[in-house]
Amino acid sequence: MSHLVHRSLRSTPPLAVAGKGIYLYDAEGREVIDGSGGAAVACLGHAHPKVLAAMQAQMEKLCYAHTAFFSCESAERLADIMVGHAPGGLTHAYFCSSGSEGNEAALKMARQYFLEIGQPQRTRFIARRQSYHGNTLGALAAGGNAMRRKPYLPILSDAFSHVSPCYAYRDRRDDESDEQYVARLAAELEAEFQRLGPDTVIAFIAETVVGATLGCVAALPGYFKAVREICDRHGALLILDEVMSGVGRCGTLHAWEQEGIAPDIQVVAKGLGGGYQPIGGILVSGRVIEGLAAGSGAFMHGHTYQAHPVACAAAVAVQEVIREENLLENVRRMGKRLEERLTERLGNHRHVGDIRGRGLFWAVELVRDRAGKEAFDPALKVNERVKREAYARGLACYPMGGTIDGRRGDHVILAPPYIVTAAQIDTIVERFGAAVEAACAGLPA
Ligand code: PLP
Repeated sequence: MSHLVHRSLRSTPPLAVAGKGIYLYDAEGREVIDGSGGAAVACLGHAHPKVLAAMQAQMEKLCYAHTAFFSCESAERLADIMVGHAPGGLTHAYFCSSGSEGNEAALKMARQYFLEIGQPQRTRFIARRQSYHGNTLGALAAGGNAMRRKPYLPILSDAFSHVSPCYAYRDRRDDESDEQYVARLAAELEAEFQRLGPDTVIAFIAETVVGATLGCVAALPGYFKAVREICDRHGALLILDEVMSGVGRCGTLHAWEQEGIAPDIQVVAKGLGGGYQPIGGILVSGRVIEGLAAGSGAFMHGHTYQAHPVACAAAVAVQEVIREENLLENVRRMGKRLEERLTERLGNHRHVGDIRGRGLFWAVELVRDRAGKEAFDPALKVNERVKREAYARGLACYPMGGTIDGRRGDHVILAPPYIVTAAQIDTIVERFGAAVEAACAGLPA
């Protein structure tokens, strides 16, 4: 019996014992393609020699020094890299250990900013339904995943309200153009500002490309420009959560670069450390930092392991590899191939409702019937069946259930490492296609 708390307390998952490149190996000797990089984490695959060497070198020099006393070289370098390559006026970085911690830091820094500049009445956040910002209580309150929130509602902050996400596949009306749908969402956000009182709002927070909760859903063109305009007009901040979609996953270092806007605060994690070390963080605009600097002169927040030397050294190496191996270009090229192959293989399948994504961040939404977009009964756990069938064929992919607000189907995410080759993409799609067919065989139409 395992003494470890697993996701399920009734079963123990396979034991992973090794990883190399895009492959993971379990204790029974099975070789499995890490087709989703875990949850879009392992962006360089496993055991990349440059990252291992950078961690080893950092460990031999310095494993830890508390940030109350010292800064460290790797954290300084990582901050330079991450803001140096952010085109939108982001000037500073703060590093922690996870995406949830990154979101907590973003929310607290945003609140502190308005305190420092003399607007203490700003106490509210607007977030989106069907979103996920993490599992700590602040991040969970921000998130709009009804299923995850429900058990904790009595202890979640009520400083957050939620508006609709931009989810064209399900929410754009048949008689609506893209522009009309975006205008409707903008009007909904504007109405929420008015309902709360525009000068009470600290920030609007959203995932640039919605990850786990909706399955790789990018906004329609113009959506984030409209959101940015509304935030600016009301003096509120824009926080973009790129924990899943950032650090190159969507084909640009930051997913928002494709939206023609920049956030005031951006949250990063997952691909930042590529799974080599637990690391997350926020990238912050000059406006926010100057507000804090002119006020108390400090960010009133911190963690024992913030800006951890070894975690930052790993993340620096990840960034260097991405540049040296021209991997953003590979993400874009292989992403296109993944889209084309998925569409060829599954585009006409009767239970495939939508195939969508950006870069190497793709999801397939499975539905009971394509025309009506009706979701499967969540009790059928279709996404879990796909995961099981894929694993049996040597592919790990990331399943999410169709239970959120009853308004979406099951979806499964593919997010292979940025080093993936064309032949490997073809193998991933072949195994995934076979898994979907096997999982859906005999399901009600
Ligand atoms: N934000 C988003 C968009 C995520 O996808 C996740 C994790 O899946 C988080 C935040 C939380 O990150 P972590 O699990 O590292 O705390």
